[in-house]
Amino acid sequence: MSSVSALYGESIVAHILDKSSALVGLNRLGFTPEVQAQLEELALRPGGLVLVAEPLNSGKTTTLCSLMNRISSIEKKAFTVEEFIEYPLDGIMQIETARKAGRDVGDAVRAVMRQDPDVLMIGDLRDGAAARAACEAAVAGQPLVLASLHAPDAVSAISRLTNLGVEPPLIAESVMGILAQRLVRRICTNCKEPYRVNATELRRFGFVPEDADQQVTLFRGKGCETCRNTGYRFRMSINELMWVNEEIVELIARRALPADIADAAKANGMKTMREDGLVKVLEGITTPEELVRVLNLRET
Ligand SMILES: [Zn+2]
Repeated sequence: MSSVSALYGESIVAHILDKSSALVGLNRLGFTPEVQAQLEELALRPGGLVLVAEPLNSGKTTTLCSLMNRISSIEKKAFTVEEFIEYPLDGIMQIETARKAGRDVGDAVRAVMRQDPDVLMIGDLRDGAAARAACEAAVAGQPLVLASLHAPDAVSAISRLTNLGVEPPLIAESVMGILAQRLVRRICTNCKEPYRVNATELRRFGFVPEDADQQVTLFRGKGCETCRNTGYRFRMSINELMWVNEEIVELIARRALPADIADAAKANGMKTMREDGLVKVLEGITTPEELVRVLNLRET
């Protein structure tokens, strides 16, 4: 809970931790079958680093916990190092750093490494020591390391690690995949209605209209009692997964420009968050307005 005093009272933001929502399967978080298959493949590897990149409050804890659950269900020795433990996880040793004075993430990771872990989740790589500890733990061959950091998209996570002082060769050697995500509100299924728009309005999401007159059917929530007249109910992720293949390893190691890494990732089949969002708009799960809001796109 966060509160701040303002002129006419308090502004309060409540972050509700629903334990049941942390225990959902990967298939319910909004991943396409391709992304889910790649995540599962990464989760079965013995070592290496898998990153979840996102701005604040975009569901990374749920995604990380769901991945941890998926992995620990196949009987491995799993640990987490978290600033604050948000969700207790069955069968996983969770270490909290915030309440222990003088203990930082790097120390906790080194302590865990002496326990011969199979899987290690690190809550948030917010400083250079934590980022380096995560990369170094991941190159040892074991454990598999899952971690999150603040970055707007998958490619930017590489720059973020570099800015935190991790050397590009170490990033190239450790990172196997980067998932970036945002949460969008789902259209309320109780009051959902179709409407027709000119397809050119979807151009800014990367949609290529067949001609200037093409019409498409989209959906929106009219507003009802179930959704308290917002037209939305529940949330899901739009996401992109950058699979770090040989080519990308090489680009990272020789400090290539983010745009070049992005091109290589797309050529390798990465669907961007914007493309994933467009699919979910065309499927009637969310709205163009939601994409504009969460992707910070300009209204045109
Ligand atoms: Zn409704």
